[in-house]
Amino acid sequence: MQDSSSDYLLEVENLRAFHTSKTGLIRAVNGISFGVKEGESVGIFGESGAGKSSIALSILGIFNKVSRFYATASASEESERLWALHDKARKKGMTPEEMGEELPGVWGRVLFKGKDLLALKEKELRKVRGNEITYVPQGLAGSLNPYTEIDLQTAEALWAHDDDDILWEREVARRVLEVLDLVEIGDVDIRKSLKPGEFSLGEDQRILIAMALIMEPSLMIADEPTTAVDVGVQQRILDAIILAKERLGLSVLMISNDQGVMAETADRVGVMSAGKLMEFGDVHTILKSPGHPFTRAFIMSNPPMELMRTIREKGLRIRGIPGNPPDMANPPAGCPFNPRCEYAKEVCREQMPEYREVERGHWMLCHRYEELPEFIL
Ligand code: SF4
Repeated sequence: MQDSSSDYLLEVENLRAFHTSKTGLIRAVNGISFGVKEGESVGIFGESGAGKSSIALSILGIFNKVSRFYATASASEESERLWALHDKARKKGMTPEEMGEELPGVWGRVLFKGKDLLALKEKELRKVRGNEITYVPQGLAGSLNPYTEIDLQTAEALWAHDDDDILWEREVARRVLEVLDLVEIGDVDIRKSLKPGEFSLGEDQRILIAMALIMEPSLMIADEPTTAVDVGVQQRILDAIILAKERLGLSVLMISNDQGVMAETADRVGVMSAGKLMEFGDVHTILKSPGHPFTRAFIMSNPPMELMRTIREKGLRIRGIPGNPPDMANPPAGCPFNPRCEYAKEVCREQMPEYREVERGHWMLCHRYEELPEFIL
């Protein structure tokens, strides 16, 4: 779902990330492609459990470690067999298709500055992760060390990546002040020596964003950075990310189930359900005139306040998506949204749709897009 532009910083191609479970192979990410251009912000938006965070973990090279940890803990024979096959395939340079079986682990290509991250050794990947690509995870504030001053914590990544021992303390102190100032920590000259408990929750979250920025990364992956905070705090966190993007020319991959976050931060958006991108396009199109039945249902299940009036005027109904998300160990045949889709027909229950570019830069995974009634908010 990319044009032929050469200014992509990140290109994700046919990404699959499967893990084992007691009930079978969970297809957390199931054949996803998209790109993030230099200085662009791409949002991945969709319901909980759709696989959004698994995309982030796959790009960062963490998905396999986490999946194997849980597989070892569950100690199932089938899981051991599948991971052994995974290792064999990797050693031989073969794909699951060539092995003739779906396999756990991350498959596909993740090109960052033209280099496939999935093919890198852990040592090489470490130079990219936390350096050129930084990660702001969910539930941020608790991960700060309560006993260490924030300037020391903010500087940690710089020292950790200073393999050649070339950094000067004065230079580190200058960069720490710069990033804390960028995320709008007030009176930073004085307060830099305080510990996390002396900052508000919103400031703690922004300090973590400063820590992600200190390496002057090219790409920041932010995974639900505004979860469990009130609207005022949320706005300041988003402002800090937007400012960093503008000042540092940063590219952002923003993961959230909140439309407001997408509207504020993203240039283009992919809408995710059941391990697939259902629709991908510019943020205005996706939020104002969504084409895919899942996108429409998801937006109408929890519309932002500013859309309420339009929704009332158009006589539309706010309602949750009927049914439950599919079991990813045993997904339905055909389109994964078919059991919950009000437009589903025979073809939807039998065949998986293919991605189609329905307008320039607007991609759709739906058999019946052209037959659907118009929907503009
Ligand atoms: S392919 Fe069919 S079931 Fe799937 S979203 Fe489109 S209309 Fe609904």
